[in-house]
Amino acid sequence: AGAAAAPPPRQSKLEPREELRVEVPPDASLRVRLVAGTAEIFGTELPPEGWVSIPPRSKIAIFSWHGATLELDGPTESEYPSVETPMVIYVNTHAILDARRARARAAAAQGGDLEASQGPRVIVVGPTDSGKSTLCRMLLSWAAKLGWKPTYVDLDIGQGSITIPGCISATPIEKPIDIVDGIPLEMPLVYFYGHPTPSINPDVYKVFMKELAKTLERQFSGNAESRAAGMVINTMGWVEGLGYELLLNAIETFKANVVLVLGQEKLWKMLKDAVQSKPNIDVVKLQKSEGVVLRNSKYRQKTRSFRIKEYFYGIANDLAPHSNIVNFSDVSVYRIGGGHQAPRSALPIGAEPVADPTRLVAVNISTDMIHTVLAISYAKEPDEIISSNVAGFIHVTDVDIQRKKLTYIAPCPGDLPSRLLIASSLTWYEA
Ligand code: ATP
Repeated sequence: AGAAAAPPPRQSKLEPREELRVEVPPDASLRVRLVAGTAEIFGTELPPEGWVSIPPRSKIAIFSWHGATLELDGPTESEYPSVETPMVIYVNTHAILDARRARARAAAAQGGDLEASQGPRVIVVGPTDSGKSTLCRMLLSWAAKLGWKPTYVDLDIGQGSITIPGCISATPIEKPIDIVDGIPLEMPLVYFYGHPTPSINPDVYKVFMKELAKTLERQFSGNAESRAAGMVINTMGWVEGLGYELLLNAIETFKANVVLVLGQEKLWKMLKDAVQSKPNIDVVKLQKSEGVVLRNSKYRQKTRSFRIKEYFYGIANDLAPHSNIVNFSDVSVYRIGGGHQAPRSALPIGAEPVADPTRLVAVNISTDMIHTVLAISYAKEPDEIISSNVAGFIHVTDVDIQRKKLTYIAPCPGDLPSRLLIASSLTWYEA
């Protein structure tokens, strides 16, 4: 059975403030070209000339403020225009944030204190598929277009957009986010939690948020420019129970002063009430876009897998990872907490097992590790692992118990930068 014949290149005209919503199939890319006018994809302008290749599986909107003519080449799973978008509301929000950044910069120039010279710390919250990552992207790209270098903080361990899932990370955004390559990866600050959901060990998730916030705070105190530009923080779509508690924790930990709530009145009201005693936090309700594509849990699991694959093979499948072998004795693998406390039977009579959720457990290398991802810690000693960020990841492809050798792939050649590795529950199977 051959693929359906690709449709011929076609033109599409956008009226002012209209967007074309497109879903690219999993096995082909779509080329888009601006013929006339101006248009942007999630805050980043299409170049005036030349084709842009939108990667397989992308779900995008090509939006025009003043009208545009586009040319599309390649198949799509769906393709329809809409004039009903919240873009004007979003860009107005951007304008308010921009004014706050300018105020912070002016205060810094006049020798103002850390409080006055702090730009907006925006946290975007809302249920799954409310368009949080997309709004973050637009706010960052619009700010970068004006010359700001805001810091993007991604707390979404399920569908993280900076590096692989299971991480919380941050990176400065110095220019509008590339339509094809996404968030730049030159210098991300990454903490490895190792699971796609926080419920496995919420205390460790909180510890890593705290470490990340502490590091950013330190960077901000020495850099007035990034301090004034502020942060845009992306969060998980889990907004009930523990998920809600972690959102409140994130607001506090990162000292967010603008909370943007997408598409849920109830969450907006709850957060507004929860922070009302703090005068310096604005909780703003924003309309969600009808263009946001719904993704079920199977789809999410699949994209998680793709994100891991992309890390090793590149977005366009254009990188060749390097395979390497280490002796078991050359590395030490640790697991952070995760309910591995001593069983009751191993304790003195009468003693209750105490679970220290952040306890470090040395793990033996076993064939169970095949297909899992291990992070390479920057820690020098095991007890620093919990407070250290990670250099990168390896994917275990084989474990030979007899010869005590572990085979892995890594995106770069050469020896591991550290012998301390962190185990995870993240897997990826070569199809
Ligand atoms: P989650 O909580 O699961 O991380 P989210 O709230 O961050 O989800 P997004 O990732 O921003 O949601 O959006 C979901 C999908 O919808 C993405 O693939 C995104 O590219 C797409 N999308 C967002 N807005 C539009 C739009 N206006 N038109 C077409 N697709 C869109």
